[in-house]
Amino acid sequence: MLEPEVESRSWPEQLVVDDEAFRVQLAYLRERSPFYREKLAGYDAAGLAEVAALPLTEKDELRATVTDENPIGAHLSVGREEIVRIYSTSGTTGTPSYIPLTASDLDNWITGSARSYAASGVRAGQRIVSTYNAGPFVAGAALASFDRIGLSHIPVGTGNTERLLTAIERLRPEAVVMTPSYAAHLAERAPWLRESSVERVLVAGEPGGGEPAFRAALEDGWGAHVTEAMGIGDIGVSLWGECEEQDGMHLGARGFVHAELVDPASGDALPLEDGAAGELVLTHLRQRAAPLLRFRTRDHVVVKTSPCPCGRTGPRIRCVGRTDDMLIVRGVNVFPSAIREVVAGFAPAVSGHVRVRPTTPDVKQEPPLPVTVELSRDAESLERLADEIRERLRAVLVVQTAVELVPWGTLERSEYKSKLLER
Ligand SMILES: [Zn+2]
Repeated sequence: MLEPEVESRSWPEQLVVDDEAFRVQLAYLRERSPFYREKLAGYDAAGLAEVAALPLTEKDELRATVTDENPIGAHLSVGREEIVRIYSTSGTTGTPSYIPLTASDLDNWITGSARSYAASGVRAGQRIVSTYNAGPFVAGAALASFDRIGLSHIPVGTGNTERLLTAIERLRPEAVVMTPSYAAHLAERAPWLRESSVERVLVAGEPGGGEPAFRAALEDGWGAHVTEAMGIGDIGVSLWGECEEQDGMHLGARGFVHAELVDPASGDALPLEDGAAGELVLTHLRQRAAPLLRFRTRDHVVVKTSPCPCGRTGPRIRCVGRTDDMLIVRGVNVFPSAIREVVAGFAPAVSGHVRVRPTTPDVKQEPPLPVTVELSRDAESLERLADEIRERLRAVLVVQTAVELVPWGTLERSEYKSKLLER
């Protein structure tokens, strides 16, 4: 552990520490954040135990307060001179939103991210090849966490597979960090990676690294351990990170961020107990520049609270998908990543590449849901395979699909995040 006294602190003790920070943060919001001063008028919750009585924050609400004079939004709580960094979110829905950080915000982000990545087992003195660009997006802040851990960092950036493979071959790193889609693509393209120096593949940026069949395929392809990490642009980078037990992600950003679970439909708070599933809601505890309260992440997670043999305390999560990707097929919620996971169970007959192709732009879909499944390079005995996949999807996910098999190499590979859903 990077900070054993923090990471192994008992969870009830952590909540006491967090409650103190939360009270200060809440007073700060009322005083400094025009957005929350207005939003919290009439609410009198004071401590963390009452946080669920406070309103949720939606990304669109923040975006609606952006003006020419204030391109960040009404949640901006500091003067221009206090801001040391401004990141952008990728803005899939049009204009980017800006995420300002003070020096202490940035330091807290790096601290949390370093704990999350160190949980994977990488140690000071080891080499890590990164594929994130230190560009406009928050993932760039994760790069500083490698320095914090004491790793020897070899940045190769996004979009240069040759340079990446050469770096692995010649510089013999112990670890690499990339999206799970890209890790899958590389394992397919360079079978020698199984014999390479890489012992750990750290994946982040999209769900998948925690799906058992998909992970097994990655571990086989790389001959390495796969652990995942996860952040939320507006809240922080690599907030969560998985340890060597590979049983869900610990909250590396503990003390900086408070996690809750809500019912995605009603927004009602759900207890953070073992096996609970819902949307992750996050609250800043020590943020200065543009802090957020009860921010809806749109990430659907499952919670684990059993003690982890690594000694880190607190609830762990596994992300099952994004609200934006969820489909409802005759009343049943289906995530494309769950479909991929079921299909991946048919390896080695299938390549693992899957596309879900909804017939309308709506969330609600009439069955059967079209699914394209790519065969592996030397797939044989295709007879009945489509039927078997369709049957397994029905049995596991309770969804009617129409499975189309396509030859190896048909579906586009990604050097960043994969498109599981194609409308
Ligand atoms: Zn652990």
